[in-house]
Amino acid sequence: MTATVNPITVDVVVVGAGSAGVAAAAAAAEEGATTVLLEASGHVGGTLAWQLLEHSAGFHDVHGNQVIAGFGDRLIGRLKELGSSPGHILDDVGYTATRTPVNHVELSLMEAVMLGEAGVQLWLNSPVVAVQREGDRITGLTVETPAGRRELRPGQVVDASGDAVVARRAGARFHEDAARTHQPASLTFKLGGVDFAALLDYARANPADFRPGNIIGDAADSDVNLWGLGSLLARGYQDGQLSLQRSEMHLAGWPRRGEAVVNVSRVSAGDVEENWTGDAAIQLSRQVLEFVRWFRHAVPGCAECYVAAVADRVGVRESGRVVGVATLTRDDLLHPVSRPDSIARGAFPIDIHEPDKPSLSHTEQLTEPYDIPYGCLVVDGIDNLLVAGRCISSTHEANGSARITATCFATGEAAGVAAALAASGNSAAPAVDVALLRQTLVRRGVLLSTQVKRPIHFAPVDC
Ligand SMILES: Cc1cc2nc3c(=O)[nH]c(=O)nc-3n(C[C@H](O)[C@H](O)[C@H](O)COP(=O)(O)OP(=O)(O)OC[C@H]3O[C@@H](n4cnc5c(N)ncnc54)[C@H](O)[C@@H]3O)c2cc1C
Repeated sequence: MTATVNPITVDVVVVGAGSAGVAAAAAAAEEGATTVLLEASGHVGGTLAWQLLEHSAGFHDVHGNQVIAGFGDRLIGRLKELGSSPGHILDDVGYTATRTPVNHVELSLMEAVMLGEAGVQLWLNSPVVAVQREGDRITGLTVETPAGRRELRPGQVVDASGDAVVARRAGARFHEDAARTHQPASLTFKLGGVDFAALLDYARANPADFRPGNIIGDAADSDVNLWGLGSLLARGYQDGQLSLQRSEMHLAGWPRRGEAVVNVSRVSAGDVEENWTGDAAIQLSRQVLEFVRWFRHAVPGCAECYVAAVADRVGVRESGRVVGVATLTRDDLLHPVSRPDSIARGAFPIDIHEPDKPSLSHTEQLTEPYDIPYGCLVVDGIDNLLVAGRCISSTHEANGSARITATCFATGEAAGVAAALAASGNSAAPAVDVALLRQTLVRRGVLLSTQVKRPIHFAPVDC
């Protein structure tokens, strides 16, 4: 006979320990809520850490004004102090003013430390497998843990799972678009054994092979950012070494360590309900191995390179966005207005990777930061469910900006504070006092649109 384990009552349950979920859980616990953070995999960090992203992006607008602070910036400060990140450094190709490289493993470790400091109960290897809903409320979450199946009775739930698994299982509505219109999925990998002196010599001698403005850097630098290699990619495709046609790639390197993260592979995303990532992983693995062979044969400085690490999951850019009480649109981004119900801001361009084209992406630049209203986190029709991160209520185009990690930290922090306020007042998430939420966020160091702009000044060391 199996022993019955009593349901566990918790103020706030956060699902998913990526950028949004870590920020949400830390914020909820710091604001006094008993908080459990559930993560399906065995470590925290989500896509930023385990898709080995080239850098966290979106902390500043294109003019150099800081738009995201709060938890995400505290985290980067701690990493910088440790030597795990150079902090916000110049983005020479102009997506925004800055990009923020991190050591992926040290980011994950630091996030775990910060969750511990905040008093979060972290459950790893603990996916949510079922959701119980009665009327307008989620009354229970079923979780498979290494110790067996557990039932949670949450006051509030923050769904930061990227794929919005809780919202889906609770019957929430999603913005209607077919999976085939979603951005493609990728598998990012890290090369070791790169001779940066030779690679950067090639780049300096062939500026037309790289994006305008791309600063080539030096083998003695700690970080380099290369966007291009288009002519070598074209030759590789023509002579049959590469089966995927690409016109450029992004390579973020640590020259002193001989390492570079490469973002180039891609497959069309599938439908979340249809368990498509296994097939995608097979196709992407084939592409990664092809690219590695091509690097060794065709790219100067890479003859001795090898795959030092590969993402531990298929990198999903977009998989469905929940319908909230408000929805962020392309128009909100291109013509921003200051909103009294704003709980976060964003400023990254609308960056849409086309599944079927060789070019890297379609990018629409934003001249000013935009406000994200609280309603984009509030799930329509469910009183105790908030969403955060890449699954917030947004159109396909707006999501092309809001999905970026700095913005995910910000919507996560806002959702965590809102959930703690709702739990402490025993109120519904849609009824949270937004003025109080904003006051609390500002006290925590979050930047909202009514505040004075914080410009960045690059010291020579940062560049
Ligand atoms: C290939 C690629 C390149 C990118 N490049 C950049 C870049 O250079 N810079 C940048 O800033 N952004 C980049 N992005 C975008 C960005 O990485 C993501 O949009 C962002 O990390 C999403 O954060 P999140 O917290 O919403 O979700 P995630 O970080 O994906 O976290 C979701 C977490 O939920 C967990 N989870 C899922 N289901 C369950 C469940 N049932 N129970 C419990 N846990 C669950 C997952 O394991 C995961 O850890 C890129 C994305 C991709 C795919």
